[in-house]
Amino acid sequence: MSFDSLGLSAEILRAVAEQGYTEPTPVQRKAIPVIHEGKDILAGAQTGTGKTAGFTLPMLQRLIEKPVSAKGGRPVRALVLTPTRELAAQVGESVSTYGRHLKIKSAVIFGGVKINPQIQALRRGVDILVATPGRLLDHVSQKTLDLSAVEILVLDEADRMLDMGFIRDIRRILALLPQRRQNLLFSATYSNDIRKLADSLLDTPALIEVARRNTPAERVSQVIHPVDRERKRELLSFMVGSHNWRQVLVFTRTKHGANRLSRQLEQDGISSAAIHGNKSQGARTRALADFKRGEVRVLVATDIAARGLDIDQLPHVVNYELPNVPEDYVHRIGRTGRAGNEGQAVSLVCVDEHKLLGDIERLLQRDLPRIMIPGYEPDPSIRAEPIMRRSGPGGQAQVRTRNQRPGQAPGKVDRSRSGAPRASAASGRSKQGSAGTPGSGKRAGSGKSNRRPVQARPA
Ligand code: AMP
Repeated sequence: MSFDSLGLSAEILRAVAEQGYTEPTPVQRKAIPVIHEGKDILAGAQTGTGKTAGFTLPMLQRLIEKPVSAKGGRPVRALVLTPTRELAAQVGESVSTYGRHLKIKSAVIFGGVKINPQIQALRRGVDILVATPGRLLDHVSQKTLDLSAVEILVLDEADRMLDMGFIRDIRRILALLPQRRQNLLFSATYSNDIRKLADSLLDTPALIEVARRNTPAERVSQVIHPVDRERKRELLSFMVGSHNWRQVLVFTRTKHGANRLSRQLEQDGISSAAIHGNKSQGARTRALADFKRGEVRVLVATDIAARGLDIDQLPHVVNYELPNVPEDYVHRIGRTGRAGNEGQAVSLVCVDEHKLLGDIERLLQRDLPRIMIPGYEPDPSIRAEPIMRRSGPGGQAQVRTRNQRPGQAPGKVDRSRSGAPRASAASGRSKQGSAGTPGSGKRAGSGKSNRRPVQARPA
Protein backbone atom coordinates (compact mmCIF):
# COMPACT_ATOMS: atom_id res chain seq x y z
CA MET A 1 0.00 0.00 0.00
CA SER A 2 1.30 3.44 -0.83
CA PHE A 3 0.49 6.84 0.65
CA ASP A 4 -1.36 7.78 -2.57
CA SER A 5 -4.53 5.94 -1.58
CA LEU A 6 -4.99 7.77 1.73
CA GLY A 7 -6.68 10.88 0.37
CA LEU A 8 -3.78 13.22 1.03
CA SER A 9 -3.09 16.27 -1.14
CA ALA A 10 -0.24 16.38 -3.66
CA GLU A 11 1.65 18.88 -1.45
CA ILE A 12 1.45 16.59 1.58
CA LEU A 13 2.46 13.57 -0.50
CA ARG A 14 5.44 15.52 -1.79
CA ALA A 15 6.59 16.31 1.74
CA VAL A 16 6.17 12.64 2.73
CA ALA A 17 8.18 11.50 -0.29
CA GLU A 18 10.90 14.01 0.57
CA GLN A 19 11.21 12.28 3.94
CA GLY A 20 11.95 9.06 2.08
CA TYR A 21 8.84 7.26 3.32
CA THR A 22 7.65 4.80 0.71
CA GLU A 23 4.72 3.22 2.49
CA PRO A 24 2.58 4.05 5.51
CA THR A 25 3.23 2.26 8.77
CA PRO A 26 0.35 0.21 10.25
CA VAL A 27 -0.83 3.04 12.53
CA GLN A 28 -0.77 5.43 9.58
CA ARG A 29 -2.74 3.00 7.40
CA LYS A 30 -5.39 2.66 10.07
CA ALA A 31 -5.53 6.17 11.49
CA ILE A 32 -5.22 8.41 8.45
CA PRO A 33 -8.53 7.47 6.73
CA VAL A 34 -10.49 7.58 9.99
CA ILE A 35 -9.10 10.95 11.06
CA HIS A 36 -9.68 12.25 7.55
CA GLU A 37 -13.37 11.37 7.95
CA GLY A 38 -13.53 13.53 11.06
CA LYS A 39 -13.97 10.74 13.62
CA ASP A 40 -12.55 10.64 17.13
CA ILE A 41 -9.92 7.98 17.71
CA LEU A 42 -8.40 6.14 20.63
CA ALA A 43 -5.07 4.82 19.42
CA GLY A 44 -2.92 2.38 21.34
CA ALA A 45 0.23 3.18 19.43
CA GLN A 46 3.63 3.22 20.94
CA THR A 47 6.31 5.65 20.14
CA GLY A 48 8.33 4.51 17.13
CA THR A 49 5.30 3.33 15.19
CA GLY A 50 5.04 6.48 13.08
CA LYS A 51 2.09 7.78 15.10
CA THR A 52 3.14 11.44 14.74
CA ALA A 53 2.69 11.37 10.98
CA GLY A 54 -0.38 9.21 11.65
CA PHE A 55 -2.19 12.17 13.16
CA THR A 56 -0.30 15.08 11.56
CA LEU A 57 -0.90 14.14 7.92
CA PRO A 58 -4.72 13.84 8.13
CA MET A 59 -4.86 16.87 10.44
CA LEU A 60 -3.09 18.97 7.78
CA GLN A 61 -5.40 17.53 5.15
CA ARG A 62 -8.52 18.46 7.10
CA LEU A 63 -7.30 21.97 7.75
CA ILE A 64 -6.61 22.65 4.09
CA GLU A 65 -9.92 21.15 3.01
CA LYS A 66 -12.08 23.14 5.41
CA PRO A 67 -12.24 26.88 4.98
CA VAL A 68 -10.94 28.97 7.88
CA SER A 69 -13.68 29.94 10.32
CA ALA A 70 -15.14 33.40 9.97
CA LYS A 71 -13.67 34.55 13.30
CA GLY A 72 -11.32 37.48 13.10
CA GLY A 73 -7.55 36.97 12.82
CA ARG A 74 -6.01 33.55 12.45
CA PRO A 75 -7.33 31.38 15.26
CA VAL A 76 -5.71 28.20 16.48
CA ARG A 77 -7.55 25.41 14.64
CA ALA A 78 -5.63 22.38 15.86
CA LEU A 79 -4.08 21.84 19.27
CA VAL A 80 -1.60 19.07 20.07
CA LEU A 81 -0.81 18.54 23.75
CA THR A 82 2.33 16.63 24.71
CA PRO A 83 3.78 15.72 28.11
CA THR A 84 7.32 17.00 27.56
CA ARG A 85 9.17 19.84 25.90
CA GLU A 86 11.21 17.43 23.82
CA LEU A 87 8.16 15.71 22.43
CA ALA A 88 6.50 19.09 21.75
CA ALA A 89 9.60 20.21 19.83
CA GLN A 90 9.67 16.98 17.84
CA VAL A 91 5.97 17.03 17.00
CA GLY A 92 6.37 20.70 16.02
CA GLU A 93 9.21 19.72 13.71
CA SER A 94 7.06 17.01 12.12
CA VAL A 95 4.21 19.48 11.58
CA SER A 96 6.59 21.89 9.82
CA THR A 97 8.15 19.10 7.77
CA TYR A 98 4.91 17.54 6.55
CA GLY A 99 3.28 20.95 6.06
CA ARG A 100 6.24 22.58 4.32
CA HIS A 101 4.42 22.94 0.97
CA LEU A 102 1.19 24.24 2.54
CA LYS A 103 0.15 27.66 3.74
CA ILE A 104 -0.33 26.39 7.26
CA LYS A 105 1.34 28.09 10.17
CA SER A 106 2.37 26.26 13.29
CA ALA A 107 4.05 27.08 16.58
CA VAL A 108 5.41 25.17 19.54
CA ILE A 109 5.09 26.46 23.08
CA PHE A 110 6.60 24.96 26.19
CA GLY A 111 8.05 26.12 29.47
CA GLY A 112 11.68 26.67 30.42
CA VAL A 113 12.19 29.25 27.68
CA LYS A 114 11.17 32.91 27.30
CA ILE A 115 7.48 33.49 26.85
CA ASN A 116 7.71 36.67 24.74
CA PRO A 117 8.76 35.11 21.43
CA GLN A 118 5.87 32.68 21.89
CA ILE A 119 3.46 35.55 22.48
CA GLN A 120 4.67 37.23 19.30
CA ALA A 121 4.28 34.01 17.29
CA LEU A 122 0.73 33.58 18.60
CA ARG A 123 -0.06 37.20 17.72
CA ARG A 124 1.09 36.67 14.15
CA GLY A 125 -1.45 33.85 13.86
CA VAL A 126 -1.07 30.10 14.18
CA ASP A 127 -3.18 27.31 12.67
CA ILE A 128 -1.60 24.39 14.52
CA LEU A 129 -0.32 24.80 18.05
CA VAL A 130 1.82 22.16 19.75
CA ALA A 131 2.14 22.72 23.48
CA THR A 132 2.86 21.33 26.90
CA PRO A 133 -0.05 21.88 29.31
CA GLY A 134 1.63 24.17 31.86
CA ARG A 135 2.93 26.81 29.47
CA LEU A 136 -0.30 26.65 27.49
CA LEU A 137 -2.23 27.64 30.61
CA ASP A 138 0.29 30.43 31.31
CA HIS A 139 -0.63 31.89 27.94
CA VAL A 140 -4.33 31.48 28.65
CA SER A 141 -4.00 33.32 31.96
CA GLN A 142 -2.03 36.11 30.27
CA LYS A 143 -4.75 36.28 27.64
CA THR A 144 -2.25 35.76 24.87
CA LEU A 145 -4.03 32.70 23.55
CA ASP A 146 -7.58 32.02 22.44
CA LEU A 147 -8.62 28.40 22.11
CA SER A 148 -12.26 29.00 21.22
CA ALA A 149 -11.86 28.03 17.56
CA VAL A 150 -10.03 24.72 18.01
CA GLU A 151 -11.41 22.10 15.63
CA ILE A 152 -9.01 19.23 16.34
CA LEU A 153 -7.47 18.23 19.66
CA VAL A 154 -4.66 15.69 19.90
CA LEU A 155 -3.50 14.27 23.23
CA ASP A 156 -0.16 12.68 22.44
CA GLU A 157 1.33 10.17 24.88
CA ALA A 158 -1.70 10.67 27.09
CA ASP A 159 -0.61 7.95 29.50
CA ARG A 160 2.56 9.86 30.24
CA MET A 161 0.63 13.09 30.71
CA LEU A 162 -1.45 11.39 33.38
CA ASP A 163 1.67 9.82 34.90
CA MET A 164 3.18 13.27 35.14
CA GLY A 165 0.16 14.62 36.97
CA PHE A 166 -1.28 16.75 34.18
CA ILE A 167 -4.88 15.57 34.49
CA ARG A 168 -6.10 18.79 36.14
CA ASP A 169 -4.36 20.93 33.56
CA ILE A 170 -5.87 18.83 30.81
CA ARG A 171 -9.35 19.25 32.25
CA ARG A 172 -8.83 23.02 32.50
CA ILE A 173 -7.74 23.11 28.88
CA LEU A 174 -10.69 20.98 27.72
CA ALA A 175 -13.03 23.49 29.33
CA LEU A 176 -11.59 26.23 27.09
CA LEU A 177 -12.25 24.37 23.84
CA PRO A 178 -15.43 24.43 21.76
CA GLN A 179 -17.77 21.51 22.46
CA ARG A 180 -17.83 20.44 18.82
CA ARG A 181 -14.39 19.26 17.83
CA GLN A 182 -12.51 16.16 16.76
CA ASN A 183 -10.48 14.41 19.49
CA LEU A 184 -7.52 12.13 18.90
CA LEU A 185 -6.08 10.33 21.89
CA PHE A 186 -2.78 8.46 21.62
CA SER A 187 -1.48 6.35 24.45
CA ALA A 188 1.12 3.59 24.63
CA THR A 189 -0.66 1.88 27.53
CA TYR A 190 -4.28 1.62 28.70
CA SER A 191 -4.70 2.17 32.40
CA ASN A 192 -8.06 2.72 34.06
CA ASP A 193 -7.28 6.44 34.18
CA ILE A 194 -6.76 6.51 30.42
CA ARG A 195 -10.04 4.68 29.92
CA LYS A 196 -11.80 7.22 32.14
CA LEU A 197 -10.28 10.12 30.24
CA ALA A 198 -11.21 8.50 26.92
CA ASP A 199 -14.80 7.94 28.07
CA SER A 200 -15.23 11.56 29.04
CA LEU A 201 -13.44 13.00 26.03
CA LEU A 202 -14.17 10.89 22.99
CA ASP A 203 -17.35 10.55 21.00
CA THR A 204 -17.79 6.95 19.76
CA PRO A 205 -14.14 6.71 18.87
CA ALA A 206 -12.58 4.38 16.35
CA LEU A 207 -10.21 2.09 18.23
CA ILE A 208 -6.82 1.70 16.67
CA GLU A 209 -4.36 -0.75 18.08
CA VAL A 210 -1.08 -1.49 16.39
CA ALA A 211 0.87 -3.29 19.07
CA ARG A 212 -0.28 -5.59 21.81
CA ARG A 213 -1.08 -3.78 25.01
CA ASN A 214 1.84 -2.96 27.24
CA THR A 215 4.22 -4.92 25.07
CA PRO A 216 7.27 -3.37 23.51
CA ALA A 217 7.85 -3.53 19.81
CA GLU A 218 8.73 -7.09 19.01
CA ARG A 219 11.66 -6.23 16.83
CA VAL A 220 13.55 -5.03 19.91
CA SER A 221 15.75 -7.80 21.24
CA GLN A 222 15.90 -7.68 25.00
CA VAL A 223 18.55 -9.16 27.23
CA ILE A 224 19.50 -9.05 30.90
CA HIS A 225 23.15 -9.06 31.93
CA PRO A 226 23.41 -9.90 35.64
CA VAL A 227 26.26 -7.89 37.19
CA ASP A 228 27.29 -6.54 40.57
CA ARG A 229 26.03 -3.05 41.34
CA GLU A 230 29.56 -1.68 41.61
CA ARG A 231 30.71 -3.12 38.33
CA LYS A 232 27.94 -1.81 36.11
CA ARG A 233 29.89 1.16 34.88
CA GLU A 234 32.87 -0.98 34.05
CA LEU A 235 30.67 -3.42 32.13
CA LEU A 236 28.94 -0.59 30.28
CA SER A 237 32.27 0.89 29.15
CA PHE A 238 33.40 -2.57 28.11
CA MET A 239 30.28 -3.22 26.05
CA VAL A 240 30.34 0.18 24.34
CA GLY A 241 34.03 -0.17 23.59
CA SER A 242 34.22 -3.82 22.60
CA HIS A 243 31.18 -3.67 20.30
CA ASN A 244 32.13 -0.25 19.05
CA TRP A 245 28.62 1.03 19.76
CA ARG A 246 28.39 4.53 18.33
CA GLN A 247 25.00 5.71 19.59
CA VAL A 248 23.71 4.45 22.90
CA LEU A 249 20.93 5.79 25.07
CA VAL A 250 21.52 4.86 28.70
CA PHE A 251 18.92 5.18 31.44
CA THR A 252 19.64 5.92 35.08
CA ARG A 253 17.15 6.34 37.88
CA THR A 254 18.32 9.70 39.14
CA LYS A 255 19.63 13.00 37.81
CA HIS A 256 22.67 12.74 40.04
CA GLY A 257 23.29 9.22 38.78
CA ALA A 258 23.02 10.42 35.17
CA ASN A 259 25.58 13.18 35.76
CA ARG A 260 27.96 10.87 37.58
CA LEU A 261 27.78 8.12 34.98
CA SER A 262 28.27 10.58 32.14
CA ARG A 263 31.41 11.96 33.85
CA GLN A 264 32.74 8.46 34.44
CA LEU A 265 32.21 7.43 30.84
CA GLU A 266 34.16 10.50 29.74
CA GLN A 267 36.97 9.36 32.06
CA ASP A 268 36.83 6.01 30.28
CA GLY A 269 37.35 7.80 26.98
CA ILE A 270 33.74 7.55 25.79
CA SER A 271 32.12 10.83 24.78
CA SER A 272 28.97 11.28 26.78
CA ALA A 273 26.34 13.82 27.86
CA ALA A 274 23.61 13.74 30.49
CA ILE A 275 20.07 14.94 29.90
CA HIS A 276 17.62 15.44 32.75
CA GLY A 277 15.14 17.82 34.27
CA ASN A 278 17.73 19.96 36.10
CA LYS A 279 19.45 20.89 32.84
CA SER A 280 18.35 24.02 31.05
CA GLN A 281 16.31 23.59 27.92
CA GLY A 282 19.30 24.86 25.91
CA ALA A 283 21.62 22.27 27.43
CA ARG A 284 19.11 19.48 26.75
CA THR A 285 18.62 20.54 23.15
CA ARG A 286 22.39 20.83 22.61
CA ALA A 287 23.07 17.40 24.13
CA LEU A 288 20.40 15.83 21.96
CA ALA A 289 21.71 17.54 18.81
CA ASP A 290 25.30 16.42 19.55
CA PHE A 291 24.04 12.89 20.12
CA LYS A 292 22.06 12.86 16.88
CA ARG A 293 25.08 14.15 14.96
CA GLY A 294 27.21 11.37 16.43
CA GLU A 295 29.48 13.74 18.36
CA VAL A 296 28.29 12.27 21.64
CA ARG A 297 28.36 8.50 21.76
CA VAL A 298 26.43 7.87 24.95
CA LEU A 299 23.46 9.94 26.06
CA VAL A 300 22.63 9.28 29.70
CA ALA A 301 19.05 10.15 30.55
CA THR A 302 16.43 9.91 33.25
CA ASP A 303 12.98 8.63 32.32
CA ILE A 304 11.20 11.94 32.25
CA ALA A 305 13.89 13.68 30.21
CA ALA A 306 14.01 10.87 27.68
CA ARG A 307 10.30 10.82 27.10
CA GLY A 308 9.59 11.91 23.57
CA LEU A 309 13.14 11.78 22.28
CA ASP A 310 12.90 10.91 18.63
CA ILE A 311 16.20 9.65 17.41
CA ASP A 312 16.07 7.84 14.11
CA GLN A 313 17.39 4.31 14.04
CA LEU A 314 18.70 4.33 17.58
CA PRO A 315 20.36 0.92 17.77
CA HIS A 316 21.04 0.49 21.50
CA VAL A 317 19.22 1.27 24.71
CA VAL A 318 20.85 0.32 27.99
CA ASN A 319 19.00 0.17 31.29
CA TYR A 320 21.88 0.98 33.58
CA GLU A 321 19.35 0.83 36.38
CA LEU A 322 15.89 -0.64 36.09
CA PRO A 323 13.01 1.78 36.51
CA ASN A 324 10.78 1.64 39.57
CA VAL A 325 7.65 1.72 37.46
CA PRO A 326 7.57 -1.28 35.11
CA GLU A 327 5.73 0.64 32.38
CA ASP A 328 8.77 2.93 32.16
CA TYR A 329 10.76 -0.08 30.95
CA VAL A 330 8.40 -0.34 27.99
CA HIS A 331 8.76 3.37 27.26
CA ARG A 332 12.52 3.16 27.54
CA ILE A 333 13.00 0.31 25.13
CA GLY A 334 10.54 1.94 22.74
CA ARG A 335 13.42 4.34 21.98
CA THR A 336 15.05 1.64 19.89
CA GLY A 337 13.77 -0.52 17.04
CA ARG A 338 11.84 2.42 15.66
CA ALA A 339 9.92 2.40 12.39
CA GLY A 340 11.02 -1.01 11.21
CA ASN A 341 14.64 -0.92 12.37
CA GLU A 342 16.23 -3.57 14.52
CA GLY A 343 16.96 -2.53 18.07
CA GLN A 344 18.70 -3.93 21.09
CA ALA A 345 17.73 -3.28 24.69
CA VAL A 346 20.25 -4.34 27.30
CA SER A 347 19.59 -4.24 31.04
CA LEU A 348 22.41 -4.39 33.58
CA VAL A 349 20.75 -5.90 36.60
CA CYS A 350 22.25 -6.25 40.06
CA VAL A 351 21.03 -8.20 43.05
CA ASP A 352 19.10 -5.16 44.39
CA GLU A 353 16.88 -5.10 41.34
CA HIS A 354 15.46 -8.61 41.22
CA LYS A 355 12.04 -7.48 42.39
CA LEU A 356 11.91 -4.71 39.79
CA LEU A 357 12.89 -7.20 37.12
CA GLY A 358 10.13 -9.55 38.29
CA ASP A 359 7.61 -6.70 38.00
CA ILE A 360 8.76 -5.95 34.46
CA GLU A 361 8.53 -9.59 33.42
CA ARG A 362 5.04 -9.82 34.86
CA LEU A 363 4.01 -6.80 32.81
CA LEU A 364 5.56 -8.26 29.66
CA GLN A 365 4.14 -11.68 30.53
CA ARG A 366 7.42 -13.36 29.74
CA ASP A 367 10.86 -13.98 31.16
CA LEU A 368 13.73 -12.09 29.63
CA PRO A 369 16.88 -14.02 28.75
CA ARG A 370 19.78 -13.75 31.22
CA ILE A 371 23.22 -13.76 29.67
CA MET A 372 26.33 -13.65 31.82
CA ILE A 373 29.25 -11.72 30.44
CA PRO A 374 32.44 -13.64 31.24
CA GLY A 375 34.49 -11.71 33.74
CA TYR A 376 31.41 -9.88 35.06
CA GLU A 377 29.51 -12.71 36.74
CA PRO A 378 27.90 -11.45 39.93
CA ASP A 379 29.49 -12.35 43.23
CA PRO A 380 26.88 -14.53 44.98
CA SER A 381 28.06 -13.36 48.40
CA ILE A 382 26.86 -9.80 47.74
CA ARG A 383 23.56 -9.13 49.48
CA ALA A 384 20.72 -7.07 48.11
CA GLU A 385 20.46 -3.52 49.42
CA PRO A 386 17.41 -1.31 49.32
CA ILE A 387 17.35 0.88 46.26
CA MET A 388 18.13 4.50 47.02
CA ARG A 389 15.29 6.82 46.31
CA ARG A 390 17.38 9.92 46.41
CA SER A 391 19.92 11.20 43.96
CA GLY A 392 22.58 11.51 46.62
CA PRO A 393 23.40 13.94 49.40
CA GLY A 394 21.26 16.99 48.79
CA GLY A 395 20.04 15.40 45.58
CA GLN A 396 16.47 15.89 44.66
CA ALA A 397 14.16 12.92 44.94
CA GLN A 398 13.49 11.88 41.41
CA VAL A 399 12.14 8.39 41.55
CA ARG A 400 8.46 8.34 40.91
CA THR A 401 6.19 5.66 42.08
CA ARG A 402 2.91 4.92 40.37
CA ASN A 403 0.45 7.81 40.70
CA GLN A 404 3.06 10.09 42.21
CA ARG A 405 3.03 13.53 40.67
CA PRO A 406 6.27 15.28 39.80
CA GLY A 407 7.45 17.28 42.75
CA GLN A 408 5.30 15.26 45.12
CA ALA A 409 7.34 13.58 47.82
CA PRO A 410 7.53 9.84 47.51
CA GLY A 411 5.60 8.00 50.18
CA LYS A 412 8.69 6.78 51.93
CA VAL A 413 12.27 7.73 51.41
CA ASP A 414 14.53 4.81 51.84
CA ARG A 415 17.86 5.78 53.33
CA SER A 416 19.82 2.62 53.38
CA ARG A 417 22.93 2.67 55.55
CA SER A 418 22.07 5.83 57.48
CA GLY A 419 21.22 7.79 54.38
CA ALA A 420 24.62 7.42 52.79
CA PRO A 421 24.54 7.03 49.04
CA ARG A 422 25.51 3.67 47.71
CA ALA A 423 29.07 3.34 46.54
CA SER A 424 29.69 4.73 43.10
CA ALA A 425 29.58 2.22 40.31
CA ALA A 426 33.20 2.99 39.64
CA SER A 427 34.48 2.50 43.13
CA GLY A 428 37.82 0.87 43.33
CA ARG A 429 37.94 -0.23 39.75
CA SER A 430 38.04 2.92 37.75
CA LYS A 431 41.02 2.05 35.59
CA GLN A 432 39.67 -1.36 34.74
CA GLY A 433 36.68 0.16 33.13
CA SER A 434 38.37 1.71 30.16
CA ALA A 435 36.60 1.16 26.91
CA GLY A 436 37.06 -2.24 25.41
CA THR A 437 38.94 -3.70 28.36
CA PRO A 438 37.25 -6.80 29.68
CA GLY A 439 36.95 -6.97 33.43
CA SER A 440 39.36 -9.13 35.32
CA GLY A 441 38.92 -10.73 38.68
CA LYS A 442 36.66 -13.50 37.44
CA ARG A 443 34.69 -15.35 39.98
CA ALA A 444 34.46 -18.83 38.64
CA GLY A 445 31.25 -20.63 39.32
CA SER A 446 29.43 -17.50 40.43
CA GLY A 447 26.12 -16.23 39.19
CA LYS A 448 23.89 -19.02 40.33
CA SER A 449 20.40 -18.27 39.31
CA ASN A 450 17.27 -20.29 39.12
CA ARG A 451 16.79 -18.78 35.65
CA ARG A 452 19.67 -20.80 34.20
CA PRO A 453 21.70 -17.96 32.73
CA VAL A 454 23.54 -18.60 29.50
CA GLN A 455 27.27 -18.07 29.36
CA ALA A 456 28.07 -16.14 26.25
CA ARG A 457 30.15 -13.42 24.82
CA PRO A 458 28.11 -10.32 24.20
CA ALA A 459 26.46 -10.58 20.83
P1 AMP B 1 6.91 8.31 15.82
O1 AMP B 1 6.33 7.01 16.27
O2 AMP B 1 5.89 9.24 15.32
O3 AMP B 1 7.79 8.91 16.88
O4 AMP B 1 7.85 8.02 14.55
C1 AMP B 1 9.01 7.26 14.63
C2 AMP B 1 9.94 7.49 13.45
O5 AMP B 1 9.43 6.90 12.26
C3 AMP B 1 10.19 8.94 13.11
O6 AMP B 1 11.57 9.12 13.06
C4 AMP B 1 9.59 9.13 11.72
O7 AMP B 1 10.36 10.02 10.96
C5 AMP B 1 9.62 7.74 11.14
N1 AMP B 1 8.50 7.46 10.20
C6 AMP B 1 7.22 7.87 10.32
N2 AMP B 1 6.47 7.39 9.31
C7 AMP B 1 7.28 6.63 8.53
C8 AMP B 1 7.08 5.87 7.33
N3 AMP B 1 5.89 5.77 6.76
N4 AMP B 1 8.15 5.24 6.80
C9 AMP B 1 9.36 5.33 7.42
N5 AMP B 1 9.62 6.03 8.53
C10 AMP B 1 8.59 6.68 9.10
